[in-house]
Amino acid sequence: MQSQSLAIETSGLTKQFGKHRVTTKSVLLVVDDSHDVLDADDWQVSPCPPFEGIRLIGHRWDPKTYHLRDLLVRNQVRYQWLDIDRSEEAYQLLAAHGQGTSPLPVLLFPDGSWLADPTPLEVARHFGLKTQPQSPFYDLIIIGAGPAGLGAAVYGASEGLRTVLIEREAPGGQAGMSSRIENYLGFPSGLSGAELTRRALLQATRFGAELLFPHEVVRISVEGSAHLVHLADGTVLRSHTLLLTTGVSYRTLDVPGSARLNGAGVYYGASMSEAPFYRGQDVYLVGGANSAGQAAMYFSRFARSVTLLVRGPSLVESMSHYLIEEIAAIPTIRVLTSTRVTEVKGETSLEAITIANTESGETQELPTTALFVFIGAEPRTEWLAGAVARDAQGYILSGSDLIRDGHRPPGWALDRDPFPLETSMPGVFVAGDARLRSTKRVASAVGEGAMSVLLVHTYLGGM
Ligand SMILES: Cc1cc2nc3c(=O)[nH]c(=O)nc-3n(C[C@H](O)[C@H](O)[C@H](O)COP(=O)(O)OP(=O)(O)OC[C@H]3O[C@@H](n4cnc5c(N)ncnc54)[C@H](O)[C@@H]3O)c2cc1C
Repeated sequence: MQSQSLAIETSGLTKQFGKHRVTTKSVLLVVDDSHDVLDADDWQVSPCPPFEGIRLIGHRWDPKTYHLRDLLVRNQVRYQWLDIDRSEEAYQLLAAHGQGTSPLPVLLFPDGSWLADPTPLEVARHFGLKTQPQSPFYDLIIIGAGPAGLGAAVYGASEGLRTVLIEREAPGGQAGMSSRIENYLGFPSGLSGAELTRRALLQATRFGAELLFPHEVVRISVEGSAHLVHLADGTVLRSHTLLLTTGVSYRTLDVPGSARLNGAGVYYGASMSEAPFYRGQDVYLVGGANSAGQAAMYFSRFARSVTLLVRGPSLVESMSHYLIEEIAAIPTIRVLTSTRVTEVKGETSLEAITIANTESGETQELPTTALFVFIGAEPRTEWLAGAVARDAQGYILSGSDLIRDGHRPPGWALDRDPFPLETSMPGVFVAGDARLRSTKRVASAVGEGAMSVLLVHTYLGGM
């Protein structure tokens, strides 16, 4: 199938969906490259055969449930969603599994097993993913499995380096959240970030790269000629070289109510898991860059209206020309420029937002249950403080950027300048969005990931 999303709504019909025969009062089946979500609020599964896949039961507006939904979708796990507040079947299933009093969300597996309020690590273990390093020593440890990390994993492993890729959230990074990447070489009609990630992971693991997920790296250090990587759970990995491909993360909206309603109507990034819930509703997006533009296009397939709230006077400065044209051609997308959000309101979930016109000062309260925020990103590299040189924003310095007035960085003990992409710690490289002066594009991140492997070889050759 082409990489695209498809939504089918039926009523009063019996349909065959793959292995499943479903009799519906009303079914929303969303098929896209990353996931199938069957919204089962109002449907009956025929007894022959029953639904056999993974089920997720939780409260619609519970942030923990949202984060689990997001984890599954970003990791391309197909599941059926059951809202405990609207589905009798959800109660019956919980009771049948002896989980009537378990804390939600609950994941039910086809083999009868279950996980109640699981951590991402517990979910990964249940899926049989390797969550512990398989080797006592590596040639290359890559921290962050976005396009740069995946690119480096493919080239590193294919060239015989013992390579491990460590990721804390979901392989794919920011690109994995993109509904359609249209400017990546070789894909003239675009491809979703999920599909790009799926292909890259397959390629990297076929070459022998190891994926360690979900694990957060909290510190790096040196011991003799070895570089040490410290994980949040206390595990320590050792390697000749390291590559930092930690990218950037969304800035959070700092207005009254936003922290409390995070995951309960206020979302960061495209949150593909949420789009199907907004069928026929009015949603608001904050931001004027390409990520917000792509999301507006994606949400317009579901929502009755999509309003893009842009701080600047126009989109021209911040968004690619092709996206501005695509948005203009969709009548259900509205762009409000010179506008900022000043407050978000709601008891247990988002009910309204207040916006202000930055020129007139006029404010307006708009009822809505969804606000998707894309207000720029920053490299969250505080954990590297004291290890590698960074600029005031946290971007990592490398190569010639480390040379000041003809001097090598403080503490640099080697009789050579840092290689391109090499940080102030010899043998530790950086690629992609986290690097100072990087281009912030998928292709450049992949290219830098590939290039870093060549420099790793050069470093290893000089050891
Ligand atoms: C919605 C959206 C749409 C986009 N669309 C396009 C497009 O159409 N074309 C284009 O060229 N670019 C696009 N971009 C930009 C592009 O996705 C980025 O430039 C690219 O993903 C950068 O890759 P990266 O590998 O450097 O970092 P990232 O993609 O940011 O990946 C970094 C990874 O590192 C992980 N990580 C961070 N810290 C740690 C840690 N301490 N331990 C373990 N893991 C860690 C993160 O979880 C993340 O998965 C888009 C971005 C977004 C958000």
